[in-house]
Amino acid sequence: MASDTVRTVRRRALVVGCGMAGCAAAWWLEHEGWEVVLVDKKVDPHPSSYLLQLDTESVRVLRLMGGQEIIDRVAFAAPAMSVRWGRNRIRQLTIESDDEWRLARRSVLLSRLFAHLPNTVQTRLGVGLEALEHRSDDVLARFGDGSAESFDLVVGADGLHSTVRRLILASEAHSVYRNGLTHVWINADVPLPNRRAVIASREGMLSLIYPFQDTDQTSIMAVAPVPSPTEPDEPMLVERVCDMVEGLGPDMHPVAVAARKSDDTKLTRFAQVRLPRWYTRRVVLLGDSAHCIDPVSGMGAHASLSGAKALAESLRDAGDVTVAFARFEMERRPFAETAQSITARTVEFSTGARRRGRVATLAGGVGDLVAAAPTALARFNSRMRAGCHA
Ligand SMILES: Cc1cc2nc3c(=O)[nH]c(=O)nc-3n(C[C@H](O)[C@H](O)[C@H](O)COP(=O)(O)OP(=O)(O)OC[C@H]3O[C@@H](n4cnc5c(N)ncnc54)[C@H](O)[C@@H]3O)c2cc1C
Repeated sequence: MASDTVRTVRRRALVVGCGMAGCAAAWWLEHEGWEVVLVDKKVDPHPSSYLLQLDTESVRVLRLMGGQEIIDRVAFAAPAMSVRWGRNRIRQLTIESDDEWRLARRSVLLSRLFAHLPNTVQTRLGVGLEALEHRSDDVLARFGDGSAESFDLVVGADGLHSTVRRLILASEAHSVYRNGLTHVWINADVPLPNRRAVIASREGMLSLIYPFQDTDQTSIMAVAPVPSPTEPDEPMLVERVCDMVEGLGPDMHPVAVAARKSDDTKLTRFAQVRLPRWYTRRVVLLGDSAHCIDPVSGMGAHASLSGAKALAESLRDAGDVTVAFARFEMERRPFAETAQSITARTVEFSTGARRRGRVATLAGGVGDLVAAAPTALARFNSRMRAGCHA
C-alpha cells in the first residue's frame, strides 16, 4: 500500500483561490517541485481597486519570489502619516514612513502576481471547487464545470467565505467572528493634501485615508458601527464618513467634497476567521480562509505571502503531509492570533468604548504584545543564528 508521504509519484497540488494566498502558494509549491493546478470560481478574480499594504516581510517574500519588478512597477512607498484624534479640538502627531513599507492597488498587484506564475502552473479561471472526497491515497476534487480530478494535496486559499473550510472543518457560522462593525470604502477623485496619509479616531469611527500614487485619487476606509445590523444603509454611512472626514481639519474639506460625489463605494463587514485547527488529512487552509485578520489590520498580504512560503517549506522538510501541516500551523498560528487580537482591540478602542473600557482594551493589547514577544524574539534569534538570509 502506498504510504501517506509527500514524495508520492505525482505530487499534484490543487490550490483553490487566486487571491494573494493562492497565487503565492502556487508559486512556492511549484518552486518546491509540485505539479500545481490553480483554480478560481471567478473569471476575473481581481476586480477591486482599493489599497493593500505590503509590510517589510511581504516585500522580502515577494523579492524571494523574483517579484522585484512587481514591487518597482505597482507598489509605492507608504507615505508619512498624521494621526489625528480629539473630540472638540483635533490633535495630531506626524509619523515618517518606513522605506520598506509599500502600498499597491489590490487589483493591479494581484493581476501582476498571477501573470508572474511560471507557465508550468495550470490556471483555470471561472472554475469553482464544489466538493472534496477524502480517499486512502488522494483527494478527489469536484468542480462547478462538472469535472473531477484527484490530487495529493489541496490548499484552500479561497478567502473569508471559504468553500474548502466549510467542506473540511467548520461552517461560516462556527468560524467567522464578527463584532457588528462595518467597513465603509470610498475612492475619491481628488489628491490627498501633501500626499500624507491620515489615520483618525473620531466620532466613533476609525479611519484610514491614503493617497493613491498612480492617480490623483484618495482612498478612504472607515470602520463604523452600524445603527441597524440587518440592513446597513450605504448612502447614510457614506455621508457619516464624509462628515467625519470634513471634521478632521480644513485641509480635508476637498477630500470630503469629492468623497460625497464618489460612485466608487462599498460596504463590507468586520470579520475574523477563528478556527481551532487549519487542516485535516491532505487538505490545509491558507490566508484569509484559515485566519482572516480583517483588512483594517493591513496584514492580509503579510499573512498570505509568508504563510505560503512556510507551507511549501514545511512540506519540503517533513516526510509526511499531516506532519508538515501541523508544523506549518504551529509556526504561523502565533502571528495570526496576535494580529487578530491587536486588530480587534484597536478597532474597539477607536470606535467608542467608554473610558473604562478603553483602559481595559489598551491593557489587554499591551498583554498581547508582551505574550507575542518571546515567539518573535525566538524567531529573530534563530534567524540571526542561521545567518539571517532566506
Ligand atoms: C474583492 C476583495 C477586495 C479586497 N480589498 C482589500 C483591500 O482593499 N485592502 C485590504 O487590505 N484587503 C482587501 N481584501 C482582503 C485581502 O485581499 C486579503 O486579506 C489578503 O490578500 C489575503 O487574501 P486571500 O488570498 O487569503 O483571500 P482573497 O483575496 O479573498 O482570495 C480568495 C479567492 O478565492 C476565490 N474563491 C472563493 N471560493 C472559491 C471556490 N469555491 N472555488 C474557487 N475559488 C474560490 C475567490 O474568488 C477569491 O479570488 C480584499 C478581498 C477581496 C476578496
